[in-house]
Amino acid sequence: MLTQFENRSDDGSFMLPAATIAGTRYGASNRGAGNAIHNASTGKAIGWQEHADATQVDAAVRAAHATLDAWRNQTPASRGKVLRKIAELLEAARANLSAMQQQVSGKPPLEADTDVSDAIATFSYYADLCADASLFDAETLTLPDPGVTGERQYEAVGVAALIVPWNFPMVTTAWKIAPALAAGCTVVLKPSEFTSPVEHVLAGIMTDAGVPDGVVNLVNGGGEVGALLAAHPLIDKISFTGSTAVGRKVMQAAAQDMKRVTLELGGKSALIVRADADIEHAVALAVGGAFTNAGQMCSATSRIIVHDDVYRKFMAAFETAVRALVIAPPQTKNVSMGPLVSHAQRARVAALLEQGIRDGARVAFSGALDSACAEGFFMAPAVIAEPDAGNVLWTDEVFGPVACVKSFRTDDEAIALANDTRYGLVATVVTRDEDAAHRYRRALRAGLVWINTPQLIFPQVCWGGLGLSGIGRELGLAGLRSYQELRHSVAQRG
Ligand code: NAD
Repeated sequence: MLTQFENRSDDGSFMLPAATIAGTRYGASNRGAGNAIHNASTGKAIGWQEHADATQVDAAVRAAHATLDAWRNQTPASRGKVLRKIAELLEAARANLSAMQQQVSGKPPLEADTDVSDAIATFSYYADLCADASLFDAETLTLPDPGVTGERQYEAVGVAALIVPWNFPMVTTAWKIAPALAAGCTVVLKPSEFTSPVEHVLAGIMTDAGVPDGVVNLVNGGGEVGALLAAHPLIDKISFTGSTAVGRKVMQAAAQDMKRVTLELGGKSALIVRADADIEHAVALAVGGAFTNAGQMCSATSRIIVHDDVYRKFMAAFETAVRALVIAPPQTKNVSMGPLVSHAQRARVAALLEQGIRDGARVAFSGALDSACAEGFFMAPAVIAEPDAGNVLWTDEVFGPVACVKSFRTDDEAIALANDTRYGLVATVVTRDEDAAHRYRRALRAGLVWINTPQLIFPQVCWGGLGLSGIGRELGLAGLRSYQELRHSVAQRG
């Protein structure tokens, strides 16, 4: 675990380089610039992430710019071979990557494995798309004037800045790097400063898989480094995943040079339980939707909307399930929920919970922490019953293990409650009635609606939200197109 990094001291803690530019690792030139990386289950510092400075950010962007033509002029098939190799090498490194995630973020093994599996599936999917030349070849257009011919082609947008958060670092990064490389873009990645170890391993895997030096570069650090990258004039496209507040700043930075943007932002999503639902199944979906990754999910269905007729039955079964959650470090037998990512994140979530309670929210029941949780950033899950429509816990993204439940009588009322938010990322509906499911699918304002399923994610199905949840789509063919520009030509014989 974490052994491939340079040791900093006798205690075995590691030091991560400030930047990887054209295959070379650089330390922080500004001595001391950096942040500690913690083990979220113990609260102890286990390493140090050095931060890049402005010169290193500039050099990384220039390295990506210098290799752009060579990479985008390779055939899609040859880029696809490299993506396939990355998927194979990730598979070989699966156990190590999963162990790292467990160690740094405290993710239970199943969640850590899922993050790696979904990253592998993403690289494989875009490798497959690269094998389909028709997605990249110029296409002839039939025009109404017989004397002229038209052509259209999708071409790489250029150098892409990829800025990612800490909650699912592998998969969030894969959703950006795989389609960007498939499209022929070169990239500069800025991982979250809290969870960067896996991305450092990924960078090594890229090199081993045959990604030419300069095609993928890493700059490390916090918001200042992200801001330098977003503002760099040689960046053509920014793909950002993170909070809506920072998304606004990124969009403002992009406006100066008309950089293209994809923004995957926050959410405040609903799970609706109709009266005809299988209640046991609905409870399983509610627990998964609200408390997977300790609720630190953009797609958390933290607003649970339950029909009056089954409300009491649902709440009783939900309470039993929440009380039974094993909240503990990842190595604990049958662990179901881990810690929050950091001390600061736990303090932020606790402050929001206190504010909600001060304003009248009632905690109906909570989970219980295992005795092994004393040291880390753990927090017991809390379920709020019938908060006011204006309560912060009902309106704002908490990004922690807090869920609200409200009751409804009619489908129209449930839809109105679910849509009463400026976010619009996902929604879940639990019902046995197919007609009702169809109505909800159409009426819910969300980028993705799950009917009776857990939060299944496939690379073939696009991801992205409406309103404050962002702009653009990742995954699927749209994910590839988001790293391309559509160009046309019209010609007649000279
Ligand atoms: P954040 O917005 O604080 O940070 C995200 C990234 O942006 C980090 O790498 C950070 O260092 C960087 N950053 C910070 N300030 C910047 C600036 N001014 N310019 C450029 N980059 C800057 O988010 P977080 O706390 O890391 O993650 C949690 C948020 O991410 C939640 O709001 C969550 O909903 C969202 N998220 C969304 C999705 C999605 O797909 N929609 C997925 C995961 C997380």
